Amino acid sequence: MLVGVPKEIKNHEYRVGLTPAGVRELVANGHDVIVETQAGAAIGFANEQYEAAGATMIDTAAEIFATAEMIIKVKEPQPVECEMLRPGQILYTYLHLAPDPKQTELLVKSGATCIAYETVTDARGGLPLLAPMSEVAGRMSIQAGAHHLEKAQGGLGTLLGGVPGVAPAKVLVIGGGVVGTQAARMAVGMGADVTILDRSLPRLRELDVEFGGRLKCVYSTVEAIEEYALEADLVVGAVLIPGAAAPKLLTRDIISRMKDGAVVVDVAIDQGGCFETSKATTHQEPTYVVDGVVHYCVANMPGGVARTSTMALTNATMPFAVAIANKGAAQAMLDDQHLLNGLNVHAGQVTYQAVADVLGYDY
Ligand code: NAD
Repeated sequence: MLVGVPKEIKNHEYRVGLTPAGVRELVANGHDVIVETQAGAAIGFANEQYEAAGATMIDTAAEIFATAEMIIKVKEPQPVECEMLRPGQILYTYLHLAPDPKQTELLVKSGATCIAYETVTDARGGLPLLAPMSEVAGRMSIQAGAHHLEKAQGGLGTLLGGVPGVAPAKVLVIGGGVVGTQAARMAVGMGADVTILDRSLPRLRELDVEFGGRLKCVYSTVEAIEEYALEADLVVGAVLIPGAAAPKLLTRDIISRMKDGAVVVDVAIDQGGCFETSKATTHQEPTYVVDGVVHYCVANMPGGVARTSTMALTNATMPFAVAIANKGAAQAMLDDQHLLNGLNVHAGQVTYQAVADVLGYDY
């Protein structure tokens, strides 16, 4: 199969659909890969590395869309990209169609087969192509939080791990899923005094075993959130209720009574945020202050570490990409229900029920 990787064109998106290692994997399976020139240059993947892996570099996205049988991307296609898609062509990328009627309409019109990373599933009920970005955001939340606790960044001037003779900072992580677990791992690693809240007792049991007593695992109640937030130096919001907006767990009242110079990192901001005072920010201007509390609410945290994120994403997307290229999309999906769950639009039809329901398409 001829696989094409265009350069991402969304504002400040530096990730790329395939690393050179990913190209090599497809080439080793007998496929041809074309990559737009400079597609990975901003994150240290030079044209020469792609060529050494077996890719052919192409000057324009238009040529890639015109010839490739499968397009591998990161972000949802922008309108100009949607218009270049063809009937029968496979698009494999993040789509997030439910809140995006315009993109959905363009993809339906294109006649292409559109597989969304975010709805591909795994045998344990997880979302394997979302998990790597949650891992990145979770680990990064502590890095961002620690940085903004510094005085010059508006924080209280607190070192997460303390030093011998000085107690470590208190970190509260709300939500013990993928993001929360990785946040907790980083905070524990930096020597902070960490508490993680979840409303799933089975999850708390797993975390208790996993961390071997190096953090407190507490059931998430209104009272626990208030108690631990009021004494925290850093709070990470990492909750998810699938298919729903994030619940506002940290109220404006609690925020107003937190320490001056404390930092709150709302990773759930892409689902509306789980703090009442959260509003989405960007890497260019990541923070703002409410009642003395520094808020970090970057909606696309993985974009800040685009190189690591690209490698993590390719690791997860690659096995499915190889299966699609080897067997064709139809057979690959017939053989793997989890990949089929990723199919959102096919041949002019919306094929994912939640998207069809929200946007009023027949399903
Ligand atoms: P996940 O499903 O793995 O974990 C969510 C956890 O929240 C679950 O363990 C659940 O039991 C828990 N939870 C639900 N309600 C709770 C409550 N009231 N109190 C405490 N815990 C509660 O999800 P995830 O992959 O960890 O993602 C978490 C959030 O981070 C999502 O909103 C996701 O979209 C977001 N995210 C944001 C970025 C970004 O760049 N900002 C990147 C990746 C993920």
